[in-house]
Amino acid sequence: MTPPADTPRADPAVDALRGAGLRVTAPRRAVLTWLSEHPHSTADAVGAAVRAQLGTVSTQAVYDVLAACVDAGLVRRIEPAGHPARFERRVADNHHHVVCRRCGVTQDVDCAVGPAPCLAPSQAHGFAVDEAEVVFWGLCPSCQDLRAAEHADPARESAQAKT
Ligand SMILES: [Zn+2]
Ligand SMILES: [Zn+2]
Ligand SMILES: [Zn+2]
Repeated sequence: MTPPADTPRADPAVDALRGAGLRVTAPRRAVLTWLSEHPHSTADAVGAAVRAQLGTVSTQAVYDVLAACVDAGLVRRIEPAGHPARFERRVADNHHHVVCRRCGVTQDVDCAVGPAPCLAPSQAHGFAVDEAEVVFWGLCPSCQDLRAAEHADPARESAQAKT
């Protein structure tokens, strides 16, 4: 027997919101669903996706949803220095990130040690240290290719030679 057509399908975003004690709203569902499929999205990217899906949702409303979900532990906010904050649904572990210096693309890196803090300070100054913020920086494969192409570009080389 097939269920009636109007039976709502199980939605992990709804379960997550209810589990965190947050009211289920269309923007919150859309944000969580988008982030589970597009980890490390910026607030701008989340906003564009939610607007494409729901129509008019203000930038402030998207920021409010993200802030509520971060406070509730449903979303992790990462802030690579010099780059816009990025958001993801992978919250329950101490994983790190590798960030491209040039384009900002971000990938997960499992912690080689395990739970935080995975680095021991040489001098804790009496602090109860609970986290070491680890970010790996470098050039992503696309940016490595771009750089190689730039270096191989004879027009660019001659332009540089003139200066
Ligand atoms: Zn890059
Ligand atoms: Zn991550
Ligand atoms: Zn680690």
